[in-house]
Amino acid sequence: MSATSASALRHDWSLDEVKALFEQPFNDLLFHAQTVHRQHFDANRVQVSTLLSIKTGACPEDCKYCPQSGHYNTGLDKEKLMEVEKVLQAAADAKAIGSTRFCMGAAWKHPSAKDMPYVLKMVEGVKALGLETCMTLGKLDQEQTRALAEAGLDYYNHNLDTSPEFYGNIITTRTYADRLETLSYVRDAGMKICSGGILGMGESLNDRAGLLIQLANLPEHPESVPINMLVKVKGTPLADEQDVDPFDFIRMLAVARIMMPKSHVRLSAGREQMNEQMQALAFFAGANSIFYGEKLLTTGNPQADKDMLLFKRLGIQPEAREEHDDEVHQAAIEQALVEQRDSKLFYDATA
Ligand code: SF4
Repeated sequence: MSATSASALRHDWSLDEVKALFEQPFNDLLFHAQTVHRQHFDANRVQVSTLLSIKTGACPEDCKYCPQSGHYNTGLDKEKLMEVEKVLQAAADAKAIGSTRFCMGAAWKHPSAKDMPYVLKMVEGVKALGLETCMTLGKLDQEQTRALAEAGLDYYNHNLDTSPEFYGNIITTRTYADRLETLSYVRDAGMKICSGGILGMGESLNDRAGLLIQLANLPEHPESVPINMLVKVKGTPLADEQDVDPFDFIRMLAVARIMMPKSHVRLSAGREQMNEQMQALAFFAGANSIFYGEKLLTTGNPQADKDMLLFKRLGIQPEAREEHDDEVHQAAIEQALVEQRDSKLFYDATA
């Protein structure tokens, strides 16, 4: 396959084709992914987002991996919806340490009519700070989706989690079709989609391939594809799952890069368990987005200084927003290296 045909946008992937990608020798797969990556991105830039939990715990859904589900006792402190001012302060802090996108997550089945006005104010406020906005609030109806788009929401995160075949082993309170419906509303309202999944839940290679096929065969590829490594939390049904082979995780990133050449592939939850060498390999495989500088919803995230030092050692620059001056952006990052020990920058979603 030529490099050019390898990077064409496709929406008709078959299981056999995707399995063949996974089964390539590791070096061939990485070379393929890196070749595709360089056709669409600066290989030495990584986009950085900050994630804030705006409403933690007591979720009515039963996602077996999730410490926020009200179905499991994980000892997590529950919180009501955060005040708008506190969210905006956290967003301003995130901007000060160089994030270009601010993601707000609420553990809901869906947003309620009572909460929507506050959520919309958060979007408007974060947008006014000059950050890209992203939210994850559960299932949306069309009216809510339109209201979020009008308030200035850039991205909506709604993960498919795994293949349709394996999905019922992980979640029973929301259907796969519900998820696809929310994604179609988001697209129809003109917002960008952030959607990916999780490895390490006991799924097979077919399920990993099946998830990527669902994402890549959508009418448009999601702009952002988070690939998570299960963070095993005591009290959840998946607490004792087997570890994923790190090379299999890298393979997943590489295949995602090949199948969705123009999407940002995000090295997401589970990064704290990865050593620097594995993270470097992940970037080589085509991952070009991370969360940093905050707690990742309710599980840990490596601290921003460690990330920035790793970037420096690898010659990676944070990706700037288009209207953002690169030098100013880099100066903010350098400054953050000095100042980040100010603990107020690290909102602890579990506190
Ligand atoms: S993953 Fe989301 S929807 Fe599922 S239990 Fe956790 S917070 Fe609720």
